[in-house]
Amino acid sequence: MMRQFELVERVKAYDPEADEDALNRAYVFSLKAHGKQKRASGDPYFSHPVEVAGILAGMKLDSSSIVTGLLHDTVEDTVATLDQIEKVFGPEIARLVDGVTKLSRVELQSGQTKQAENFRKLVLAMSEDIRVLLVKLADRLHNMRTLHFIKDAEKRQRIARETMEIYAPLAERIGMHEMKDQLEDLAFSELHPEARQSIIARLAFLREKGGDLVSRVIAELKDVLKQHGVEAQVTGREKSPYSIWRKMQRKNVGFEQLSDIMAFRVAVENVEQCYQTLGVLHSQYPVVPGRFKDYISTPKPNQYRSLHTAVIGPERQRIEIQIRTREMHEVAELGVAAHWSYAQGRPKTEGPQYRWLRELLDILEHASGPEEFLEHTRLEMFHDQVFCFTPKGDLFALPRGATPVDLAYAIHSEIGDTCVGAKINGRLMPLRTQLQNGDQVEIVTSKAQTPSPTWDQFVVTGKARARIRRFIRTQQRQQYLDLGKSILQKAFRQEGHELREKALAEVLPKFAVEEIDDLYVAVGEGLHTGHDVVRALHPAPPSEEKRAKVASLTEARKRSKAKGADMAVPIRGLIPGMALHFAGCCHPLPGDRIVGIVTTGKGVTIHTIDCETLENYADTPERWLDVAWNVRGDPAETHIGRINVIIGNEPGSLGALTTIIGTHAGNITNLKITNRSQDFFEILVDIEVQDVKHLSTIIAALRAAPSINSVERARG
Ligand code: MN
Repeated sequence: MMRQFELVERVKAYDPEADEDALNRAYVFSLKAHGKQKRASGDPYFSHPVEVAGILAGMKLDSSSIVTGLLHDTVEDTVATLDQIEKVFGPEIARLVDGVTKLSRVELQSGQTKQAENFRKLVLAMSEDIRVLLVKLADRLHNMRTLHFIKDAEKRQRIARETMEIYAPLAERIGMHEMKDQLEDLAFSELHPEARQSIIARLAFLREKGGDLVSRVIAELKDVLKQHGVEAQVTGREKSPYSIWRKMQRKNVGFEQLSDIMAFRVAVENVEQCYQTLGVLHSQYPVVPGRFKDYISTPKPNQYRSLHTAVIGPERQRIEIQIRTREMHEVAELGVAAHWSYAQGRPKTEGPQYRWLRELLDILEHASGPEEFLEHTRLEMFHDQVFCFTPKGDLFALPRGATPVDLAYAIHSEIGDTCVGAKINGRLMPLRTQLQNGDQVEIVTSKAQTPSPTWDQFVVTGKARARIRRFIRTQQRQQYLDLGKSILQKAFRQEGHELREKALAEVLPKFAVEEIDDLYVAVGEGLHTGHDVVRALHPAPPSEEKRAKVASLTEARKRSKAKGADMAVPIRGLIPGMALHFAGCCHPLPGDRIVGIVTTGKGVTIHTIDCETLENYADTPERWLDVAWNVRGDPAETHIGRINVIIGNEPGSLGALTTIIGTHAGNITNLKITNRSQDFFEILVDIEVQDVKHLSTIIAALRAAPSINSVERARG
């Protein structure tokens, strides 16, 4: 195990400014916290964080990263708390340790890796500071190095698969090819030990046979090109066992055919030289058929450009060669990021993901001043997404701001339609709660539930919105239908006829509808009056019609006073934007006696029974409807009441008005001065109140104020 002073010396060797004191304290803190804990290997547990810190030091990271490496398991596995860490090491370290701890919990939850791509995104989204991810990768690397000590074979396989599907690709994506190769190789040896062994044996055999083949091939290629006047940079390497294996799988090649184990890259000045190089190689060496690809004339979708070919090259070795300009090389390296963005189906832009990747590569390669860069590096590419789990461990990527209702609809439309609540991380939370990365969300459903129009105000996904709106439309149609039916029944009764559906069926063409229900809906919407329909069936107007019209106003008022519920149109759950509207002239409030007026194309408008506007409908009795407030109304629902106030034109009188309304829990939503004279202001005030009783209380209180001259409810 690396000792305290060795670690400090290693860090100081590349970063003389490193916070030596913090490193020492973290070493001791972690040592004490892990105490007598043991690893599966039998080693003291503390050896693990020390090794992780060592790996991070090998990557030449800043002291905060190394300190985090030392502390990364203390919160999850020991009695130490985040508060303690914050006290001893400050908020930055606490934040980093917290990030790594959270990532480890995600890992425990996952179990399955079939949603690998989503998990990779989740991990990235959760590592808001790139150092969190770097520590996590170092942690994973050491765990993989010691994986063989774990006795449970199934657990070993799971960890190896997770490494292969999540962490190795992540390392690659942030440009850490070395880390990626190591993780892949370790996972490969757990998942397919025999295959790996035989590939390694084959490689060893070929190497022994060939000596330092790679350098000899490089030298010869350079030489051949130079003879033809091309000044080129040639690099080459032996492929990793895992990449060879993958190629064998992909191309379904047998082991005996495993000969192109070396890959070479030729970098030249310009495009002409690329083709010139290709010409030279193809004329000097036998070409392997079917391997030539021209990604210069036809770049890959991620802008990758290069010529690819394979030849039986120097020493009769089958080799792969990539030819490109230095500029193409740079794009190819950044192509990792380009592909990243491309794969998410988002537009490729010169966004921050390019910049940080370029900078990260620079830092890791040149190792100068890691702090200033790492300090400010945030992974921001998934800031518009949020990732959540179901209790089964299924992962869902949702737009930021998504709520449990969005998740419910993402799982299944039916679950969305019937959701009544949500447990977020085990606690029952409101449906409008915005989900956070890594939340575990259990949707509570009930067969009795239907989508609520209020959901439309907070859902963010198109799927949820479309379903909710469709449901509202269906429900709205049902309401129009019920309303139309009751309008017709009433109109027929008033004119002394009976409503028979059979008879109605005959006049459907007159109203350009096909079904009787459609006619009801049309009447409910106010497209036709009940009177129109009666006339269609009974063309001769009865003589007493006029009298009925005149009587209707007083009659309606009388009936409303009696509060006869039998005649009331069922008003279910006053849904905004539906068949019911509240008149702007009289602002009816729960508790007011009301009457409904059917308006063409709008449905029903509710007026107070004493509204002056009602006189306009005196000669259209079929448009009048008896309505009553639903007694079991929602107490949380508020309504706008309008009052007309006259106050003295003096300092403080307006203040007194608003104060009184406020102290009586009235919320002013609009205020308009309609008249002003030397001595008085006349003001219209709209107030959000519960019901008419609430408004009456406010009016009474206002009347008691000396600076207020008169207060009346506005009527039409
Ligand atoms: Mn660990």
